[in-house]
Amino acid sequence: MIELTDEQDMVLSALEEIAREEFAERAFKWQGEPPWENIELLAKQGFLGINFDESYGGGGMTEFEAMLSIEAIGSVCPDTAEFIYNQQMVAPRAIEMFGTEVAKDRYLPPVINGEDFVAIGISEPESGSDVGSMQTTVSNDLVLNGEKIWVSNVPHADAAVLWVKFPEGLGSVIIEFDWPGVEVQEHYKNMHDGTQSQIRFEDVEIPEENVLTRGQDAFVDQLKALNWERLGCATLANSWARNGLEKALDYAQQREQFGQPIGDFQGIEWKLADMVTQLEGARLLTYRAALNAHEHGRIPDRLETSMAKLYSTERAEQIVSEALQIHGANGYQQGHPLEYLYRLTRGRRLAAGTDEIQKNQIAAALKESGLPDLA
Ligand SMILES: Cc1cc2nc3c(=O)[nH]c(=O)nc-3n(C[C@H](O)[C@H](O)[C@H](O)COP(=O)(O)OP(=O)(O)OC[C@H]3O[C@@H](n4cnc5c(N)ncnc54)[C@H](O)[C@@H]3O)c2cc1C
Repeated sequence: MIELTDEQDMVLSALEEIAREEFAERAFKWQGEPPWENIELLAKQGFLGINFDESYGGGGMTEFEAMLSIEAIGSVCPDTAEFIYNQQMVAPRAIEMFGTEVAKDRYLPPVINGEDFVAIGISEPESGSDVGSMQTTVSNDLVLNGEKIWVSNVPHADAAVLWVKFPEGLGSVIIEFDWPGVEVQEHYKNMHDGTQSQIRFEDVEIPEENVLTRGQDAFVDQLKALNWERLGCATLANSWARNGLEKALDYAQQREQFGQPIGDFQGIEWKLADMVTQLEGARLLTYRAALNAHEHGRIPDRLETSMAKLYSTERAEQIVSEALQIHGANGYQQGHPLEYLYRLTRGRRLAAGTDEIQKNQIAAALKESGLPDLA
């Protein structure tokens, strides 16, 4: 679909092979638990953190290669892809972009070696989509107070990046879960059995070197990290959609009714045609946003990012739902890959900015700059 360099082609082929040979058999057994065995193998082969600098153990490539790796793996093993999305495109990536040398040396190598995980805390009980209304504060003498909710993967993480309010405005810091004043109050299971947690912070002292963003550039920096996270989220959704579509295509050839494979009925053929067209459209939007950002050395464009995130996550839910439909009652059974993919894709329309928030961003960009350029 997109012309890859030899190096990108090599990465993609190697990861597709690892996914097929090593991850396929247990692909749907993790169901929300971190697939540590797979992570260890990826780390050993140098494929964990491929978009991080080599000085921390990374592969020295870009977010585009990170997105290729998420796609290659997620179209076989959804949980492994979600783990590497979190690791390559979310909190650790923000640490590499904005962290002090001390913070990068401390937090990045264990993540890239597959030994640790860093969570992200943005949401609060009274502040979801309206991030500007957050009430978690860090004072001028760097004392943190407040509360975060829906923080994913806390039981597997030693540290988290938190979005906070400094006296001068929005910023971010890194905390560790065993510091005095950090209290994990409750863990919840979400719809796909992933764990999310509520955490309280009371007079937590933040070392200077753990401040990530603060001051007048903080908002632009946060946006840069968030837009990459959104493109990673779109990629993850596309990979899960492909996973479901491949299963539907196979099943449609095998399952016979009325004396012929169901895939020979036009009703099913048209479903498959719609599914693949939607998926490729979503992938094109996502790659365009990523490649344009790299080419121009800038933040992924707001309009391009939000269109990619909105379309990919909405279509992924729809494609997986149709794949389940093609499987009939089989696909609806607990433990079947399609019912799990359906639960997974549903969450992506909420995480990293809901559909409605993406539409607000798209409409605002349209009003500001008109339609995207033709060229
Ligand atoms: C699987 C999953 C993983 C997550 N992981 C994390 C994590 O690791 N860390 C973290 O901090 N958070 C995490 N979240 C939380 C996520 O970021 C929030 O759910 C999201 O930001 C929306 O906030 P909210 O749920 O409070 O909904 P609300 O903001 O209360 O919104 C409720 C509804 O109102 C709509 N709405 C709100 N404002 C507007 C508006 N201006 N215009 C139109 N509609 C509007 C929303 O789109 C939504 O449909 C996760 C969520 C999920 C589902």
